[in-house]
Amino acid sequence: MAKRKFYPKNKKNNLKKFKKENKAKKVEVVFFREGMNVSDLASAMNVSNALIIKKLMNMGMMTSINEVIDRDTIELICLEEGVELQDEVITDVSRYDEMDFEEDPENLVLRPPIVTIMGHVDHGKTTLLDTIRNTKVAEGEAGGITQHIGAYQIDFENKKITFIDTPGHAAFTEMRARGAKVTDIVVLVVAADDGVMPQTKEAIDHAKSADVPLIVAINKIDRPGAKVEKIMSELSEKGLTPEEWGGDTPFVKISALKNENIEALLEMIILISEVRELKANPNKKARGNVIEARLDKGRGPLATMIVENGTLSVGDFIAVGNTYGKIRIMNNHLGEIIKKAEPSTPVEITGLNEVPYAGDKFMVFDDEKTTKQIASDRKSRMRELELKKKAKSSLDMLLGDIESSEKELNLLIKANVNGSIEALKGLLEKIDFEGFHVNIIRADVGAISENDVSLASAANAIVIGFNVRPTSNVKNLANTEGVEIRLYSIIYRVQEDIENAIKGMLKPRFEEVVIGQAEVRETYKISKIGTIAGCYVTDGVIQKNSMARVLREGLVIYEGRLGSLKRFKDDVKEVKQNLECGLSIENFNDIKVGDIIEISTQKRIEVK
Ligand code: GDP
Repeated sequence: MAKRKFYPKNKKNNLKKFKKENKAKKVEVVFFREGMNVSDLASAMNVSNALIIKKLMNMGMMTSINEVIDRDTIELICLEEGVELQDEVITDVSRYDEMDFEEDPENLVLRPPIVTIMGHVDHGKTTLLDTIRNTKVAEGEAGGITQHIGAYQIDFENKKITFIDTPGHAAFTEMRARGAKVTDIVVLVVAADDGVMPQTKEAIDHAKSADVPLIVAINKIDRPGAKVEKIMSELSEKGLTPEEWGGDTPFVKISALKNENIEALLEMIILISEVRELKANPNKKARGNVIEARLDKGRGPLATMIVENGTLSVGDFIAVGNTYGKIRIMNNHLGEIIKKAEPSTPVEITGLNEVPYAGDKFMVFDDEKTTKQIASDRKSRMRELELKKKAKSSLDMLLGDIESSEKELNLLIKANVNGSIEALKGLLEKIDFEGFHVNIIRADVGAISENDVSLASAANAIVIGFNVRPTSNVKNLANTEGVEIRLYSIIYRVQEDIENAIKGMLKPRFEEVVIGQAEVRETYKISKIGTIAGCYVTDGVIQKNSMARVLREGLVIYEGRLGSLKRFKDDVKEVKQNLECGLSIENFNDIKVGDIIEISTQKRIEVK
């Protein structure tokens, strides 16, 4: 064997490998691209796969050659190897969503800010969005009635502001996760009669990591229990010091319900947007982001999009996510039909071939042929990326990580809009209690169908219905199949429930608690029963059915169950400190005078 090690059969190959690892000229620059796996990186660096795998292992990551590595990790490896990591310069137009577009400053004009409202549940986000919409949306000439298209625009002192009409963080983070930076300003709502809560902190983190300016709106100041100063100091501790205290975070005190001081908030939004000089070039083909999308029975795929740059026009050929289309009808948030949409304008469009996702980017191209080709290129690239990911999970299975495959709760999600699905997926996939996590086996727009129930039954999954309801046929099937269907209309509640379900599924953990100690004073041998120890309880309490540990001169000589427990002649449940008792230990008769019997029970530890 030793011989083979030094003179391998496949000498030639090994020699090649040796040369490659040791003599190959190392590259100086590696170009990063999304979805790079171990072997891509190895070939880009001109080193062996094994070297990369070894480096990852040193970082505590067990990987296969097909595993996709994130940018930070790649950067670390490059740093160690003295190789520079640069972002790839993209020239392929079908990757328009990854490109940076240069603009000549001369062509830029101010555009309205796009605002997202975040904050803890019940602090008043929805009320604030409603109050602003009801009081500030300019009714259209045709008497248009505001329609929920996922965003709306107001006119305030002759300036426009666009609000994303889905409060909460989920929408914001999901869009960011898809690479879309839709929001210019975050308004953080904090209820004056409550305080800084978990989602308040989360919102601060989101805004910080997205590098988006934040305005604090202390809400519900009309409430008797309102403690504005307390909120201000709590937020200061979190790094948001009010301007009036010498910090740099604007604070506005409002009552969303009573419509108090809302104008001050709007003024602050305008002020910040002017300082930031948010600009775009309206005289070119449009680019932008999808905010919401759904399938409408009559009108086909509908998407609400916000134009980021350029002007979007009816008749434009547009690539969106992995689909494409020609804009047929364009509505604004008043339901009015419009022909053109300038930067920061939210519009709902028809004419796409498929339903895109919230956070997908769109871009207008010259003609149908190009647009179609771009969509098809994007689809194949996505398939490639998915295959890479799949290769990874099947490898995990091959490795037989049974422990981890048991540690999951399977879910099947159905919702009324793609946006909710994205949001739910984002929240639920993040859940991790002691390695126990959620596995989403299907997530689709639409009603809960019999097919869903069958799949859930096969996969032992729970069905989550978000703003959708099952028909009675589906309910019956679920009953016979023993599939649980849970219905929700608040994203936060789903998260809460699933977290609780997982806590319930976790195997209970127990901790040993010593409850008492007794000293053996006498022993009696009773035939058929064994040794009975006459004891004196020196500490705590001795309880029936507990665990006993026999200590002799400080050493544990036996551990087992307490057999019987008597006071005088009677069987008892427990004997307290300073009392005498008789006890036996199951399967252990070698008890001696002077032994200490330590009694313990198992206490269940709650998962937090
Ligand atoms: P969200 O979960 O953050 O969207 O909170 P909501 O907008 O649904 O508000 C939660 C509750 O607080 C509702 O009952 C609102 O009527 C109430 N609320 C919101 N803003 C105010 C306010 O300024 N003053 C008072 N008194 N109640 C408010």
